[in-house]
Amino acid sequence: MTTMPVPRGFYVTSKFGPRAGGYHWGTDFGRGGGSGGHPVYAMRAGTVQYAGPASGFGRWVTIDHPASVGGGYTVYGHVVPEVRPGQWVEEGQRIAHIDPNSATNGGVAPHAHVEVHRYVWSQPGPDRLNPETWLQGARWPGEAKPGAAPKPKPAPKKGSEDVIFGLDVSSWQDGLYLGGIDGIDFVIARTTDGTYKDKAYRSHIDDAEKAGMVTAAYHFLRAPSEGTSVAQQVSAALEVMGPAHKRPVWIDVETEGGTLTVNDIRTCKQLFENAGVRVVGVYSYVPYWEGRIAGGEPDTAQFGAVWLANYPSTANRPFRELWDSIPKQKFDYPLGNQKPAIWQYASTGLVNGWGTGVDVNAFRGSKAELHDLFYGTKTAKTNQQTTEETEMAEFNKPRPSYINPAVSLSASDFIRAVDAATWQTRVLVAEIARKLDIDPDKIVADAIEADRAQH
Ligand SMILES: [Zn+2]
Repeated sequence: MTTMPVPRGFYVTSKFGPRAGGYHWGTDFGRGGGSGGHPVYAMRAGTVQYAGPASGFGRWVTIDHPASVGGGYTVYGHVVPEVRPGQWVEEGQRIAHIDPNSATNGGVAPHAHVEVHRYVWSQPGPDRLNPETWLQGARWPGEAKPGAAPKPKPAPKKGSEDVIFGLDVSSWQDGLYLGGIDGIDFVIARTTDGTYKDKAYRSHIDDAEKAGMVTAAYHFLRAPSEGTSVAQQVSAALEVMGPAHKRPVWIDVETEGGTLTVNDIRTCKQLFENAGVRVVGVYSYVPYWEGRIAGGEPDTAQFGAVWLANYPSTANRPFRELWDSIPKQKFDYPLGNQKPAIWQYASTGLVNGWGTGVDVNAFRGSKAELHDLFYGTKTAKTNQQTTEETEMAEFNKPRPSYINPAVSLSASDFIRAVDAATWQTRVLVAEIARKLDIDPDKIVADAIEADRAQH
C-alpha cells in the first residue's frame, strides 16, 4: 500500500514533467489558503536517509523503502523535518511539516515537493518516476481506504464578500502556533490589560510575522478608578513592546470594572503617540460605546478606525464556516458615526492547531490595504501604481536598432525618429514626384486598392 504525502484537501500544484524553467523531476502539492505548517507523511514504510538542509529545498527528508513494502526511495522537499536519519518510519507516519517561511524553505511559496526514485536515490533521468502515477490508488493519511488520485484544481477564488480573516490573541492562546494556521492573514496581539503585561505578546508577533501575517497590538484600557492611571498602563504596554516589537496599537474600550471617560481614551491615544506608537483606533461593542462611556457616546473618528465586536453566532465552528453562516449587516453598523474597519464576528471560531474557540475577525480588503490601515502607509495604492510603472518601464526599455544593433532606442526615441523619418521621406518623395510630373497620392491609392483586391 501507499499513502499520500499530504493531508486530504491538498492537490497537485505542479506536475512531474516539462515546465517553464526546466524539467520538473517531482510533483508539488499545495492547498488553497496556504500550505505552510501542514503535516507531511511517509508514503511507504522505510528508513530515513536524510533529514536536514538540502540545496534548493531549504530542508528535506528522504526515505529508503525496503522491497518488502514495494521498494523505492522518496524525497520530501521544502519541509521542516520531524524525524532523524536512521529512524524507521511506518507508512502514513508524520515525518515533517511544510516550511511556511520562504527565508528558510529554499525561497518558494510554501508547498511540498515530492519525488519518487525507482530503487535508490538517482540523478534526474529514467529512474525518477512520476509520483502521481506511483501514488495511484494511494490512501489519504489516517484513512483506511484508497482514495481517488488528486486532480489538479485551481486555487479557490475569494467570495464576493472579499474579506480576509484574522485573530486577536493574548496569553490565553499562549502555545497557539500562529505560523501553522490556514487562511489567517492578520493577528492583533495583546500587550497589556491595565498594567498586567502579556507574556505571549512578543512570541505571537514573531510567529505571525514569520508566517507573513499583518500584525498590530492591542491594549485593554482600564478605568483609573480600577487602580492604575492611564499613564501607568501605557508605560506598561510600551515595556512589553520594547524597541523591537513596537507595533500600531488598538485601544480596547470595554472594561466592566470602572467607568471610562472620553478623556481617558484621548489620554491613552495621546500617550501612545507621544511614545511614537501609532494608534489605529478603538475596539468596542455597541451597547458599551453607546451607553457606558462617561460623557455620552463619543465620535470615533477622533480615535482613528473602529474595530467592532458583535457575535451573531456563538457556535463553535471553523472560522470560515462560521463566517458563511452569519448575516453580515453588523459590518455596516456605524459606531460613533463610523462604520467598522474590522469586525470581530465571533469568539468561538475554530482554527487548526487549537482545541477551543478563538476570537475571529474579518477585514474587507486585501492584506496590503490592512497594512495601510494599521501602519498608516499607502502601500496598496503604491503597489497598483508600481504594476503600471513596471509595464511602462518594460515598454520603454531601450531595444537594439535593427540597422545597427550597437545602437539602442527607447520607445519614445523610436517614435521621434519614425516621426522625423516619415516627414523627411514624404517631403523628398513629393519633390521628386513633382519633378517627374507624377501624382504620388494616386500611386498610394492604387497600391491600397490592389492590396485589398488580393486579400
Ligand atoms: Zn517541485
